[in-house]
Amino acid sequence: MRRNRKVKILATLGPASADEQMIQKLHEAGADLFRINMSHASHEVMRTLIERIRVVEARCGRPIGILADLQGPKLRVGKFAEGKVELKIGQTFTLDNRDVPGDSRRVYLPHPEILEAVKPGHRLLIDDGKLHLRAEKTDGKSIVTTVVSGTRISDRKGVSLPDTLLGVGALTDKDRVDLDAVLATGEVDWVALSFIQRPEDLAEVRKIARGRVGLMSKIEKPQAIERIDEIIELSDALMVARGDLGVEMPLESVPGLQKQLTRACRRAGKPVVVATQMLESMISSPVPTRAEVSDVATAVFEGADAVMLSAESASGEYPVEAVSTMASIASNVERDPHYPGIIYAQRTPPEATGADAISLAAHQIAETLKLAAIVTYTSSGTTGLRAARERPQVPVIALSPIVQTARRLSVVWGLHCVVTEDATDLDDMVNRACRIVSTEGFGKPGDRIIVTAGVPLGTPGATNMLRIAYIGSDGQSGI
Ligand code: PGA
Ligand code: MN
Repeated sequence: MRRNRKVKILATLGPASADEQMIQKLHEAGADLFRINMSHASHEVMRTLIERIRVVEARCGRPIGILADLQGPKLRVGKFAEGKVELKIGQTFTLDNRDVPGDSRRVYLPHPEILEAVKPGHRLLIDDGKLHLRAEKTDGKSIVTTVVSGTRISDRKGVSLPDTLLGVGALTDKDRVDLDAVLATGEVDWVALSFIQRPEDLAEVRKIARGRVGLMSKIEKPQAIERIDEIIELSDALMVARGDLGVEMPLESVPGLQKQLTRACRRAGKPVVVATQMLESMISSPVPTRAEVSDVATAVFEGADAVMLSAESASGEYPVEAVSTMASIASNVERDPHYPGIIYAQRTPPEATGADAISLAAHQIAETLKLAAIVTYTSSGTTGLRAARERPQVPVIALSPIVQTARRLSVVWGLHCVVTEDATDLDDMVNRACRIVSTEGFGKPGDRIIVTAGVPLGTPGATNMLRIAYIGSDGQSGI
């Protein structure tokens, strides 16, 4: 199955999309990889979803990536005697360490480290920012606040602390248990880390993961933005997590941050996913709003690697329509006459490595000679990533002997991954590339392609070869 689309679609699975037929429909409609949200999925549900995705993958014959999204330190208040209370603007309201039901004067905050970290003047944003409290006095056991705006609070609402650097790591006890279960399946390609604040937050996960999954940092805290370069350096991919980012930072700063993050990732050659509320109204409507169409288009014009669906595909009424709408917006943008120029204008110079020099050369040669495809042999995926960083308009076929590499690369802009054995020699390499380009529908006899590889094959990061080849009249061999 060949897709005529560069940007990838990441669809979240949930109650509306858990059965095998539905997963298959989402994949056929355009979902390239799937997200399992560990905030909601039990381990058993996670394992069932993984099994079903792999059945669909085997049936469709295309590598499908799986992302497990860890909940991270999402903070919540305790419960109220009446379930909820009404507050008045200007009144005093206290969060404390007493595990008893709350009332209109106080509530339990079951996070001792937060009671210590908040300082007078800090903002406490409850329920996605609908209630804004300002800390006035703190003593390590309680935070006395004034209600600045909003009047409602109820059981277990989320708390965001945009001004406070939390002394907690990115992994909670729940995350550790979830991560173990995720790794034990051996079938998950990416793990997303929520609410990371510092580069050090990645170190612990990296140590546990030992290369078995790629690490995707969700950028949803202002503290992470402050150290973004170091965080990108230590991450394998980034997610612009606009949901929580828009609570922790002024909402109007999110579009600019999205541009900053997508560009920084493109410079680094790391995949970046734009997420949350992309087609929000499609949770309950079969058609999106004009503004949503424009939002998806913006991410595609920015050269994001992937766009994500959350509740639209996980719990909405129109999961398949949401995926096909996203796919059709993306394809339309990519056919727009302005698209190549806009993508080219954001190009990044190559680094002084063989892989980058050859990726740039392959891009230029392919466009100058109007070649059918760039074929790149990649075992770890690094060469594939560097080829995608160039953002060439010609199709890029990434060939890897390792199925996990192909699955992981499913999130990457423009890469069509195929699992194939390593070539035995140069002739085999060219013949195999021509055969795969033909059978995958990217070229026909007489078309020319470019092949790049590191010779001897299987040496990671040693890309050193570039060859132009004709697809022979049998469509099976190169000349
Ligand atoms: P979430 O992350 O859906 O897990 O909250 C994405 C976001 O915050 O945008
Ligand atoms: Mn989030």
